[in-house]
Amino acid sequence: MLDVDALRRDYPILSRTVYGKPLVYLDNTATSQTPRQVVEAVTRMYSEHKANVHRGVFFLSQEATDLMEATRDRVARYINAPSREEVIFTRGTTEGLNLVASSMGALLEDGDEIILTRMEHHANIVPWQLLQSRRNVTIKVVPILPDGSLDIEAYKSLFTERTRLVSFCHISNVLGTVNPVAEMARYAHSRGAVVVVDGAQASPHMAIDVQALDVDFYAFSSHKMYGPTGVGVLYGKRELLDRMPPYQGGGEMIKHVSFEGTTFEEPPLKFEAGTPDFVGIAAFSACLDYIESIGLEKIEAHELALLDYATARMMEIPGMRIFGTAHGKAPVISFLMGDAHHYDTGMLLDKLGIAVRTGHHCAQPLMQALGIEGTVRASFALYNTREEVDTFIAALRRIQPLLC
Ligand SMILES: *Cc1c(COP(=O)(O)O)cnc(C)c1O
Repeated sequence: MLDVDALRRDYPILSRTVYGKPLVYLDNTATSQTPRQVVEAVTRMYSEHKANVHRGVFFLSQEATDLMEATRDRVARYINAPSREEVIFTRGTTEGLNLVASSMGALLEDGDEIILTRMEHHANIVPWQLLQSRRNVTIKVVPILPDGSLDIEAYKSLFTERTRLVSFCHISNVLGTVNPVAEMARYAHSRGAVVVVDGAQASPHMAIDVQALDVDFYAFSSHKMYGPTGVGVLYGKRELLDRMPPYQGGGEMIKHVSFEGTTFEEPPLKFEAGTPDFVGIAAFSACLDYIESIGLEKIEAHELALLDYATARMMEIPGMRIFGTAHGKAPVISFLMGDAHHYDTGMLLDKLGIAVRTGHHCAQPLMQALGIEGTVRASFALYNTREEVDTFIAALRRIQPLLC
């Protein structure tokens, strides 16, 4: 069991009040809060180690480079990547997916096909549409079943001999559905397709083993896993990274520049143009230490207990509709109360101190499939408590007669 009360002391923000009410923070799917240990690591970088990386001969620059590169080793271990060269630092999941769509996309040919799913975040849709403006590729979309799981039979039936790539989320940020990544990857590989996974929602909740999943690319964001903003990771298999052209051009990613012709660095630096967020990257190491010191299994068990409890209590409320009920789902609850507008529900909850998300959650094609414009979304992290769920339920009961 987690000692949640002790853990919460490392998050000053959780002791804040809003409108004179204790804050109940349930928007963890959008971003999670950051513990003192990680904030201190950021402060330490700024106060003691700030110098540009990969360039200087002087002591501080070497030290900053070592701290950043130590994080690369740390991340490689964390996701069980075969080598540190397969860990690329990005600004976040969005940039990781754009990098793959751009650089991997350059290897595709007119007439090639890409498979996405109905439950994708816009970050895993729009980059592929941008690719379509440069290459005449076809995008096919896997439908969802009524419980919010993917229609795996339909997925398999979408493959043709022109399918080159599939890209899908590990966990839906709206439905909480945990997709069978290993099974989907195995099938895609048997059909000769490259597998890209949006891991933004899985990385905070479960252990990620890119070799066990056997995916070709896996993208995630630090800020959703208690870490600093502006830092993300893209794991990519070495043989693909070697073949792909660079994403952006600039410093750090070159071997030699001349107007007669420029040569590029090997991966990962080939994909890391410009000064990286070495402060955030170094602090991300502290974040992984923090998560591992608590234990992902304990975190997951705690969050799922909150999910079960909250779901059961919510279903007692008249008119409650929950979107996404797939077996084994992650701690995300998207809902509507009767015909009440999601925005009104969110606004009233806010006045009671409860922070939830409202709207389409960057997944408009999914909303279209569900036949709605948006939902209210509550999601749990390691520091949420059963008492907070009770406060949330009491608030829902209080506003229900006002709205329905
Ligand atoms: C948040 C999220 C993204 C985008 O992540 P950023 O950190 O904003 O780049 C992509 N996909 C899913 C499923 C997400 O939840």
